[in-house]
Amino acid sequence: MGQLRITEYGEAVLKKPGEPITTFDASLAQLADDMIETMYAADGIGLAAQQIDQAIRLCVVDLYQEGMEVDFDYMLDGKKPPLSLIMPMALVNPRIQELGKNQNDYEEGCLSFPNIRAIVKRPEQITVEYQDLEGVSHRLTCNGLLARCIQHEVDHLNGVLFIDRMDNKELSKINGALKQLKKQTLNNTGIQT
Ligand SMILES: [Zn+2]
Repeated sequence: MGQLRITEYGEAVLKKPGEPITTFDASLAQLADDMIETMYAADGIGLAAQQIDQAIRLCVVDLYQEGMEVDFDYMLDGKKPPLSLIMPMALVNPRIQELGKNQNDYEEGCLSFPNIRAIVKRPEQITVEYQDLEGVSHRLTCNGLLARCIQHEVDHLNGVLFIDRMDNKELSKINGALKQLKKQTLNNTGIQT
Protein backbone atom coordinates (compact mmCIF):
# COMPACT_ATOMS: atom_id res chain seq x y z
CA MET A 1 0.00 0.00 0.00
CA GLY A 2 1.27 3.51 0.67
CA GLN A 3 -0.27 6.69 -0.58
CA LEU A 4 -3.99 6.49 -1.27
CA ARG A 5 -6.28 8.40 -3.64
CA ILE A 6 -8.19 11.22 -1.94
CA THR A 7 -11.89 11.29 -2.75
CA GLU A 8 -13.38 14.60 -3.83
CA TYR A 9 -16.66 16.46 -3.46
CA GLY A 10 -19.33 14.69 -5.49
CA GLU A 11 -18.28 11.14 -4.55
CA ALA A 12 -21.01 9.36 -2.59
CA VAL A 13 -18.69 7.94 0.08
CA LEU A 14 -18.20 11.45 1.51
CA LYS A 15 -21.86 11.48 2.55
CA LYS A 16 -21.76 8.03 4.16
CA PRO A 17 -21.60 7.70 7.96
CA GLY A 18 -18.74 5.37 8.95
CA GLU A 19 -19.21 1.91 10.43
CA PRO A 20 -17.71 1.43 13.92
CA ILE A 21 -14.33 -0.32 13.99
CA THR A 22 -14.25 -3.51 16.06
CA THR A 23 -11.03 -5.22 14.94
CA PHE A 24 -7.76 -3.70 16.12
CA ASP A 25 -5.19 -5.55 14.05
CA ALA A 26 -2.14 -4.98 11.86
CA SER A 27 -4.25 -4.06 8.84
CA LEU A 28 -5.92 -1.25 10.80
CA ALA A 29 -2.48 0.06 11.83
CA GLN A 30 -1.33 -0.19 8.20
CA LEU A 31 -4.39 1.73 7.01
CA ALA A 32 -3.72 4.49 9.57
CA ASP A 33 -0.07 4.66 8.39
CA ASP A 34 -1.18 4.95 4.77
CA MET A 35 -3.66 7.69 5.69
CA ILE A 36 -0.93 9.63 7.52
CA GLU A 37 1.37 9.29 4.49
CA THR A 38 -1.47 10.45 2.21
CA MET A 39 -2.23 13.41 4.49
CA TYR A 40 1.43 14.53 4.51
CA ALA A 41 1.73 14.21 0.73
CA ALA A 42 -1.30 16.48 0.35
CA ASP A 43 -0.03 18.99 2.97
CA GLY A 44 -3.03 18.34 5.21
CA ILE A 45 -3.42 18.39 8.99
CA GLY A 46 -6.24 15.83 9.12
CA LEU A 47 -7.76 13.06 7.03
CA ALA A 48 -10.84 10.89 7.54
CA ALA A 49 -11.50 7.40 6.17
CA GLN A 50 -14.26 8.63 3.84
CA GLN A 51 -11.57 10.69 2.11
CA ILE A 52 -9.74 7.50 1.12
CA ASP A 53 -12.97 5.85 0.02
CA GLN A 54 -13.77 3.84 3.17
CA ALA A 55 -16.87 4.48 5.30
CA ILE A 56 -15.37 3.49 8.67
CA ARG A 57 -14.78 5.45 11.87
CA LEU A 58 -11.07 6.24 11.61
CA CYS A 59 -9.34 9.58 11.18
CA VAL A 60 -5.79 10.88 11.50
CA VAL A 61 -4.53 14.27 12.64
CA ASP A 62 -1.10 15.88 12.89
CA LEU A 63 -0.63 19.39 14.24
CA TYR A 64 3.05 18.96 15.01
CA GLN A 65 4.48 19.34 11.53
CA GLU A 66 7.50 21.42 10.57
CA GLY A 67 6.92 25.16 10.85
CA MET A 68 3.51 24.76 12.43
CA GLU A 69 2.54 27.21 15.15
CA VAL A 70 1.08 25.56 18.26
CA ASP A 71 -1.76 27.83 19.36
CA PHE A 72 -3.85 25.39 21.35
CA ASP A 73 -3.96 23.67 24.71
CA TYR A 74 -4.81 20.04 25.41
CA MET A 75 -5.16 17.47 28.16
CA LEU A 76 -4.95 13.78 27.30
CA ASP A 77 -6.18 11.32 29.93
CA GLY A 78 -5.66 14.00 32.58
CA LYS A 79 -2.06 14.72 31.59
CA LYS A 80 -0.22 16.90 29.11
CA PRO A 81 2.35 14.75 27.30
CA PRO A 82 4.64 16.55 24.82
CA LEU A 83 2.95 17.06 21.46
CA SER A 84 5.84 15.25 19.76
CA LEU A 85 4.77 12.08 21.61
CA ILE A 86 1.10 12.17 20.65
CA MET A 87 1.34 13.35 17.03
CA PRO A 88 0.48 12.06 14.52
CA MET A 89 -2.73 10.82 16.14
CA ALA A 90 -5.03 8.10 14.86
CA LEU A 91 -8.52 8.35 16.36
CA VAL A 92 -10.68 5.24 16.16
CA ASN A 93 -14.42 5.51 16.84
CA PRO A 94 -14.12 9.10 18.14
CA ARG A 95 -17.14 10.60 19.86
CA ILE A 96 -17.29 14.25 20.80
CA GLN A 97 -18.67 14.30 24.34
CA GLU A 98 -18.61 17.96 25.20
CA LEU A 99 -18.67 21.11 23.15
CA GLY A 100 -17.58 24.43 24.66
CA LYS A 101 -20.11 27.26 24.77
CA ASN A 102 -17.80 29.75 23.04
CA GLN A 103 -17.69 29.57 19.27
CA ASN A 104 -15.27 31.16 16.84
CA ASP A 105 -14.87 31.73 13.12
CA TYR A 106 -11.97 30.27 11.17
CA GLU A 107 -11.22 29.82 7.49
CA GLU A 108 -11.18 26.08 6.82
CA GLY A 109 -10.07 24.02 3.89
CA CYS A 110 -10.58 20.33 3.15
CA LEU A 111 -8.46 17.93 1.11
CA SER A 112 -11.64 16.74 -0.65
CA PHE A 113 -12.29 20.33 -1.80
CA PRO A 114 -9.01 21.45 -3.43
CA ASN A 115 -8.44 25.22 -3.43
CA ILE A 116 -11.75 25.99 -1.71
CA ARG A 117 -11.67 27.76 1.64
CA ALA A 118 -14.38 29.47 3.63
CA ILE A 119 -15.26 30.47 7.16
CA VAL A 120 -16.88 27.93 9.46
CA LYS A 121 -18.15 28.69 12.97
CA ARG A 122 -17.43 25.97 15.54
CA PRO A 123 -17.16 25.57 19.32
CA GLU A 124 -13.74 26.63 20.53
CA GLN A 125 -13.24 23.72 22.95
CA ILE A 126 -14.19 20.04 22.88
CA THR A 127 -13.79 16.82 24.80
CA VAL A 128 -13.49 13.76 22.58
CA GLU A 129 -13.34 10.10 23.53
CA TYR A 130 -11.69 7.71 21.12
CA GLN A 131 -9.75 4.49 20.90
CA ASP A 132 -6.17 4.15 19.74
CA LEU A 133 -4.99 1.55 17.23
CA GLU A 134 -4.71 -1.04 20.05
CA GLY A 135 -8.31 -0.42 21.09
CA VAL A 136 -7.39 1.45 24.29
CA SER A 137 -9.84 4.24 25.19
CA HIS A 138 -8.68 7.82 25.69
CA ARG A 139 -10.21 11.14 26.62
CA LEU A 140 -8.84 14.34 25.09
CA THR A 141 -9.90 17.87 25.97
CA CYS A 142 -8.51 20.52 23.65
CA ASN A 143 -9.11 23.91 22.08
CA GLY A 144 -7.91 26.03 19.18
CA LEU A 145 -6.83 24.44 15.93
CA LEU A 146 -6.72 20.93 17.40
CA ALA A 147 -10.35 21.15 18.54
CA ARG A 148 -11.36 22.53 15.16
CA CYS A 149 -9.47 19.89 13.21
CA ILE A 150 -10.96 17.02 15.25
CA GLN A 151 -14.49 18.42 14.82
CA HIS A 152 -13.93 18.64 11.05
CA GLU A 153 -12.68 15.02 10.90
CA VAL A 154 -15.40 13.61 13.18
CA ASP A 155 -17.94 15.35 10.94
CA HIS A 156 -16.46 13.42 7.98
CA LEU A 157 -16.96 10.16 9.91
CA ASN A 158 -20.64 11.11 10.22
CA GLY A 159 -20.92 11.95 6.52
CA VAL A 160 -21.02 15.68 7.28
CA LEU A 161 -18.91 18.09 5.22
CA PHE A 162 -17.59 21.55 6.11
CA ILE A 163 -19.93 23.09 3.54
CA ASP A 164 -22.82 21.71 5.62
CA ARG A 165 -21.56 23.88 8.51
CA MET A 166 -21.26 27.13 6.53
CA ASP A 167 -23.79 29.93 6.60
CA ASN A 168 -25.42 31.07 3.36
CA LYS A 169 -23.12 34.06 3.02
CA GLU A 170 -20.00 31.87 2.98
CA LEU A 171 -21.67 29.29 0.75
CA SER A 172 -22.62 31.89 -1.82
CA LYS A 173 -18.95 32.95 -2.09
CA ILE A 174 -17.82 29.45 -3.06
CA ASN A 175 -20.93 28.29 -4.88
CA GLY A 176 -19.40 28.59 -8.36
CA ALA A 177 -16.23 26.72 -7.35
CA LEU A 178 -18.30 23.99 -5.69
CA LYS A 179 -20.41 23.40 -8.79
CA GLN A 180 -17.33 23.24 -10.95
CA LEU A 181 -15.59 20.79 -8.61
CA LYS A 182 -18.60 18.50 -8.45
CA LYS A 183 -18.88 18.45 -12.23
CA GLN A 184 -15.18 17.69 -12.56
CA THR A 185 -15.39 14.90 -9.96
CA LEU A 186 -18.31 13.26 -11.72
CA ASN A 187 -16.43 13.42 -15.04
CA ASN A 188 -13.28 11.94 -13.49
CA THR A 189 -15.04 9.10 -11.72
CA GLY A 190 -17.32 8.34 -14.66
CA ILE A 191 -20.48 8.69 -12.58
CA GLN A 192 -23.47 9.54 -14.73
CA THR A 193 -25.71 12.36 -13.57
ZN1 LIG B 1 -12.17 17.55 5.24
